[in-house]
Amino acid sequence: MEKIFKLTQSAVETLAEKYGTPLLVLSLEQIEHNYRFLTENLPGVKIYYAVKANPDERIVRTLADLGSCFDVASDGEMLALTELGIAPDRMVYANPFKTHNGLAVAKRTGVYKFTFDSESEIYKMAKAIPGGTVLLRVRVDNPKALVDLNKKFGAHPDDALRLLKIAREQGLDVAGLCFHVGSQSLSADAYVDAINICRRLFDDAAKEGFKLRILDIGGGFPIPAIDTEVDALAITRTIREMLEKNFSDIEIWAEPGRFICGTTVNLITRVIGTQHRNSQQWYFLDDGLYGTFSGVIFDHWDFELLTFKPDVEKIPATFAGPSCDSLDVMFRDKMTVPLEMDDIILVPNCGSYTSASATVFNGFAKTTRIVWEDVKQEIETIPLAAATSNRTL
Ligand SMILES: *Cc1c(COP(=O)(O)O)cnc(C)c1O
Repeated sequence: MEKIFKLTQSAVETLAEKYGTPLLVLSLEQIEHNYRFLTENLPGVKIYYAVKANPDERIVRTLADLGSCFDVASDGEMLALTELGIAPDRMVYANPFKTHNGLAVAKRTGVYKFTFDSESEIYKMAKAIPGGTVLLRVRVDNPKALVDLNKKFGAHPDDALRLLKIAREQGLDVAGLCFHVGSQSLSADAYVDAINICRRLFDDAAKEGFKLRILDIGGGFPIPAIDTEVDALAITRTIREMLEKNFSDIEIWAEPGRFICGTTVNLITRVIGTQHRNSQQWYFLDDGLYGTFSGVIFDHWDFELLTFKPDVEKIPATFAGPSCDSLDVMFRDKMTVPLEMDDIILVPNCGSYTSASATVFNGFAKTTRIVWEDVKQEIETIPLAAATSNRTL
């Protein structure tokens, strides 16, 4: 993952001038780069992009054109993708607990691939979509993930055979197993453990007459973040070796979310106020915790703030968003060069679990999004001085 989308100072200043702030700039070339990284390093693995990480229509269209499939979790996601012309057999409804609306929309749109981890869900699926294709989600513990989803989802391996048998009795097409090691998994260990568990369960199931044919290794592939060493190449290499050794004749799926979209968006935000409170420096920005920085809460993400100021001694500061709620504080004691009113801040790696979970609380509209490849020619050919002095551009 050597390539990461990061705007230059002149592009940031020109874009801020032309489109105002806050502004999200998406690179579709980076989407393609990330998708190809996975298909090249995990050859033969079918990619189901987890739409919840960033449902932006341009991202979905770009991936659809590249041949990607999609992991959807709700009626809304299935309808949005159907509207974009994506066929139902390119979607897996990978929410272990589906709503009544969700199942009704699956039936209407023709989505027939599901995951589950409980007995109650089997009866729901069998009733709504008789003969549907199902994967049992197995629990894998991963304390090294930033977001450990196995506290909420996944059947215990000891319970797997019982559930597979009930699903078969209910007439479902029992096709395989899936797991999700948790988001931003920093090592391959959890994948190795999970693949070993699944190999054992495939063998146990074969003894009971099952012909499992699909293994879905979920998402969780990490992107570079502050203070973390991420080696995506090493992780994919380990996974590839494990799959070749254990599942060479099985169809493999993966459900990356963050990895595909995380590095593809830059946020341009601006200082709209400075204040000294209780001997701390505060900076108020025009995007906040209820907006693009929602990932601080929902995704436990630490964002990198880049300024284009001279590199002087840093100070600890508090960064707050524009709303009137006291919760709207993104960072405390964050080291920064001293900032002034109207200073521009560039925040890279804003593509996953950011705009997707942003709200319009307090009347602040969702941050405007533009596509870098739509504007870059124009930006790159405008000399900076002309761009910043001409407001009608
Ligand atoms: C959220 C989710 C993903 C994507 O996770 P990332 O960490 O963003 O890769 C994949 N599969 C399922 C079932 C999910 O819920």
